Amino acid sequence: MTAKAEGAGFVWDPRIASHVYRDDHPLKPERLIGVRDTLERLGAFKLPGARVLAPRAATREEIERIHAPAYVDAVMQASRDPNADYTAWGLSAYGDTPPFAGMHEVSLLTTGGSLVAMEESLAGRMRVAVNYSGGLHHAKRALAHGFCIYNDPAIVCGLLADRGMKVAYVDIDAHHGDGVQEAFYSTDQVLTISLHESGRTLFPGTGFADERGRGKGAGYSINVALPAYTDDAAYMRAFDEVVRPLVERYRPDVLVTQQGIDPHFSDPLTHLQISTRTREHAVRWFKDSPWPWVAMGGGGYSLDAVRRTWALEFLIMLGADVPDELRDADPPAWTGAERRAIDERTDGAISDALAAAW
Ligand SMILES: [Zn+2]
Repeated sequence: MTAKAEGAGFVWDPRIASHVYRDDHPLKPERLIGVRDTLERLGAFKLPGARVLAPRAATREEIERIHAPAYVDAVMQASRDPNADYTAWGLSAYGDTPPFAGMHEVSLLTTGGSLVAMEESLAGRMRVAVNYSGGLHHAKRALAHGFCIYNDPAIVCGLLADRGMKVAYVDIDAHHGDGVQEAFYSTDQVLTISLHESGRTLFPGTGFADERGRGKGAGYSINVALPAYTDDAAYMRAFDEVVRPLVERYRPDVLVTQQGIDPHFSDPLTHLQISTRTREHAVRWFKDSPWPWVAMGGGGYSLDAVRRTWALEFLIMLGADVPDELRDADPPAWTGAERRAIDERTDGAISDALAAAW
């Protein structure tokens, strides 16, 4: 085995941060500007091993690894004429995923950013490459869903599997990674592990431990359905007791991570209570692991939490020091009866997830 690659790539192009879903929409691609500007101010892009990677447009063939041709046609049509009716494809003006002018083209670019990250990491040119405009894990084969148009994590995992690789996909967004799970539900070639707020209290309402895959895939879809208000201590225990042993047992050829930062305690859309402490813990484990690593963003609706956490994560990817200004100073932590209640429910989610594994 060759020496582990060093350095980290950051996918950036102003075009992946300038589209608007709708003026009042919670997903604001402009949030990435804050991440990039913070890293720039901290001198991150001048550090040894730092690379800025330009995204490319994904090809139609790559998109169709996961999506139906008729769905791609519908998105292209919506991109040209967003005012027609596309509700059959999950796109609606006042719904979660509105059609907007140029949506196909920018989605090719956000997807292609993940493909560039994949290629750079697999070639061993860097330890990890991250596309924070990607991680759009809810999109289905023929359905836009939960702010997601093309499912770049599923496309990346599918293309890696097509090369004969065993893929471990770890999703630490607050929401269940339902689109990725569905794409690989019947295969053992992609292990999907999603840690998320329980579907009892959060969109998309799925992601329970008994969704464990079928046929050859039985036991290769792992769901840790965490209780609302899970804090750092409980979340880190779930990560250590589920993600670490299962990925190590699986022995993947490549690690793919979705790093939505909507589980942050300040996020307005979810009820998880984690802080930058949890993310340092998880991202350091990813970095210290022996596998080629492709990373993506995901949800994140508190712009300040997005800015600080993703900047912090990229510094960890680089192996650089993290300044305290990026960390949460005083994250929430339960005590007393609430502590015991969260711990008990988290332990239940952990044991259910482990019991479902192959
Ligand atoms: Zn999310």
